[in-house]
Amino acid sequence: MPGKTRNNISQNESLLFEMSSAGKVGYQLPTLDVPEVDPAKALGFNNARAGIEDFPEVSEVEVIRHFTRLSTWNYGIDLGMFPLGSCTMKYNPRVNETVARTEGLIWSHPYQPEELSQGAMEVMARLESALMEITGMDAVTLEPCAGAHGELTGVLLIRALLESRGNPRKKIIIPDSAHGTNPATAAMAGYQVAGLKSNELGMVDVAELARMVDDGTAALMVTNPNTVGVFEGDIAKVAEVMHAKGALLYMDGANMNAMVGITRPGDFGVDVMHLNLHKTFSTPHGGGGPGSGAVAVKKHLEPFLPIPRLKRVKDAWTFDRDRPQSIGKVRAFYGNFGVLVRALAYIMAHGGPGLRQATLDALLNANYIRKGLQDYYDMPYSSPSMHECVFSDERQAKLGVKTTDIAKRLIDYGFHPYTVAFPMIVHGALMIEPTETESKPELDAFISAMREIAAEIERDPKFVLAAPHHSRTPRVDEVGAARKPVLRWKPAARA
Ligand SMILES: *Cc1c(COP(=O)(O)O)cnc(C)c1O
Repeated sequence: MPGKTRNNISQNESLLFEMSSAGKVGYQLPTLDVPEVDPAKALGFNNARAGIEDFPEVSEVEVIRHFTRLSTWNYGIDLGMFPLGSCTMKYNPRVNETVARTEGLIWSHPYQPEELSQGAMEVMARLESALMEITGMDAVTLEPCAGAHGELTGVLLIRALLESRGNPRKKIIIPDSAHGTNPATAAMAGYQVAGLKSNELGMVDVAELARMVDDGTAALMVTNPNTVGVFEGDIAKVAEVMHAKGALLYMDGANMNAMVGITRPGDFGVDVMHLNLHKTFSTPHGGGGPGSGAVAVKKHLEPFLPIPRLKRVKDAWTFDRDRPQSIGKVRAFYGNFGVLVRALAYIMAHGGPGLRQATLDALLNANYIRKGLQDYYDMPYSSPSMHECVFSDERQAKLGVKTTDIAKRLIDYGFHPYTVAFPMIVHGALMIEPTETESKPELDAFISAMREIAAEIERDPKFVLAAPHHSRTPRVDEVGAARKPVLRWKPAARA
């Protein structure tokens, strides 16, 4: 590449555009043995383009090395612990991938006739019933393709049920410890959001809730365990308060990793909830890839579930589309099928006792970290931690070092940062979720890195403020990167 050298050790990587040199190609086609046609004539002028400006011309090996090198820059769950709280970034067992690549499943198509889709339908039916058993709910839809999408589906179900009773009502109550997608969902579904302040334990204040709920209240959306990692101990009472006023209880179940095999939302009064199969049930996530926000409901909401619904007729599965009360479709076809296969593989590989053990290990790991760090970082709530623990930067902030700075320094120790500055009710939050898939040595390495950073801050806060020191790129302007992203390569600007 003229005028620029690439150092293989620092591996600073050029763009493909910058590597381009005229005439290089990465393919070989046989000589044309049919008459050549003009694409504009054959396809129509609008469908053919003359050429692509600045299209990179590179060889096969250049492309392979370029992307392989880039892939080694990525931090992923296969490289080490990913302690992002709220996200349940657990290791994705390879058996899931093997199962997802089963011949008959990988080639199935949503348009193929039902008699050729029985296996795929059986997979979905089994997953639905496993999720019913895990949650204690009466019916499940697998159609929504993310947690937030599940929330929207769930709230639309609530609206449909209340409408069928004559009044959809106006507001949804949301505690300040809820996930940010909850208020967004309620607003998208046309509800006003009423905020509820948590009590000093970091839980829903039942007395305050009882004062707020009235005939205009459609539901309470509660994240449980909530975003401070605390189980809502009064949840059964919360359900009673809602039901007494004809309102419903929605549970954000993205944190089910703390509950599977131990307690069931259906048993403590939840009417509707979503699961994040891409969190709790170990299907890959991140980067906006496919997910699944399966929604589980009690009987009274079942008629409103999205179509189509799986139905057993004689000895075969069929799709039932004749459901007059359904809210309709929320997604093309039947959800992200490949994700569903992986989730079922995970559930079946563990079985009931295995899933319960995974939950217990997740709780143990989070509390091991809590214990290891509580003398070094402040804890805003003393309630027992479930699958994640939340610290604050209060002590470090007195020396001018904030949660973001600590997270940047953690990169130098080879860890992905924890969740920074969330949840909002904790000022300067450090939210850490190890999941059950981390071993004791990995947890110890993380704890020792966090302790060393705390000591560094005492010794030399400026050094930590300048972190990361060993990463490929120094600290970036995150606001600028989000507000003014450079999405287009301009040869002139780089020359
Ligand atoms: C991740 C998460 C969501 C949103 O899920 P997506 O799949 O990212 O849309 C909602 N609530 C909680 C508590 C979460 O952790």
